[in-house]
Amino acid sequence: MEGGCYCGALRYEVQGKPVFKAQCHCRACTHFAGGAPNLFMAMPANGFTYTKGTPAQFTRDNEAPATRDFCPTCGTQVASHRKGMPLVMIKVGTLDDPAAFKAPKAAIYVAEKQPFHQIPEDLTCFDGFPMAAE
Ligand SMILES: [Zn+2]
Ligand SMILES: [Zn+2]
Repeated sequence: MEGGCYCGALRYEVQGKPVFKAQCHCRACTHFAGGAPNLFMAMPANGFTYTKGTPAQFTRDNEAPATRDFCPTCGTQVASHRKGMPLVMIKVGTLDDPAAFKAPKAAIYVAEKQPFHQIPEDLTCFDGFPMAAE
């Protein structure tokens, strides 16, 4: 699968099967997703490469720091990753074919969910992040 940012300066390629497909309701994701939960799929990090451009990165200094990769030109966040976790979380909206995502299987960080967020009934809900860092 391929994808990239809104302006095209940052492009990536990813191989392998999704390990996890979810929507995240955390406070940080509501910043990045414009208020909605952020839809992502976790892919094996070793199948992910940037084919054009170099992302700018931001890591918040908290107890479970995630590093977010974004385009330095248009600001689109394309992926995030966590120290010690061999996964890259790809933002579904940055895929060339977002429909390939099909649907989320879980909702995470529901403890931080906003009252206007919708969670389909068939999703498994987690208060935080369901996978521990190695
Ligand atoms: Zn861009
Ligand atoms: Zn989140």
